[in-house]
Amino acid sequence: MGISHPPEVRHRAIALVRSGHTNREVAHELGISHGTIGYWVHMDRARLGELPGRGSKNCFRCHPRPVAREAYTYLLGLYLGDGHIVKHARSYSLSIYCGDAWPGLIEDAQYAVDTVLPGAQANRVQRQGCTEVKRYSQHWPCMFPQHGPGMKHTRKIELADWQAELVQEEPWPFVRGLIHSDGCRHTNWTTRKVGGEIKRYEYPRYMFCNVSTDIKRLFTDTLDQVGVEWRVANSKNISIAKRDSVALMDLHVGPKY
Ligand SMILES: [Zn+2]
Repeated sequence: MGISHPPEVRHRAIALVRSGHTNREVAHELGISHGTIGYWVHMDRARLGELPGRGSKNCFRCHPRPVAREAYTYLLGLYLGDGHIVKHARSYSLSIYCGDAWPGLIEDAQYAVDTVLPGAQANRVQRQGCTEVKRYSQHWPCMFPQHGPGMKHTRKIELADWQAELVQEEPWPFVRGLIHSDGCRHTNWTTRKVGGEIKRYEYPRYMFCNVSTDIKRLFTDTLDQVGVEWRVANSKNISIAKRDSVALMDLHVGPKY
């Protein structure tokens, strides 16, 4: 069914149904059988994981099973830093935006999404200068109850008890996720004259930039837990510059790649 129609007709039909037209209206409009439209729409929903009840066995909140803790806490960091959950008519999508300058992070984000929610693969959507790693599921709000209306910094963000426990157990992937989405490692340098010779000194530091007070606190509480010293650089930025702390961060986080 539907094989004889060019893909653009199928895409047009699906777009019309998604914008609110009934299968019957679209069938009439495009001069295609009602059954074919129904089949296309069904296949599209299956592809996006939107069929009722589908995928629930893969949700570790609905079907409690051991969760991939490192992948989850890393993804939680990515999501809280710069991820988005969007509600659609029958489903939700989780999007993680990764700068194209760091292809390793795109791989890491995709691996985390596909590990936390097995059963399908995230899509990669090319945007200007970045890649959106995107996956549909009805279950994102189960796994990320921080989802809510409006921007994250305009509402209270706190971890559910079970999330806080996971972060307690796997603090480093959480820190890594936050740095990978909203932070960076960069190097300041200065010169000093030593014995008549001008020497260059480098000061690597990590910065985390987020406007949500709650998310900054989650970040700094976790740094406290792992023994990394930090300070408030300004209203948006947390800075890690002490040599021992930078060394710890280099061991567990490292620069973006
Ligand atoms: Zn669920």
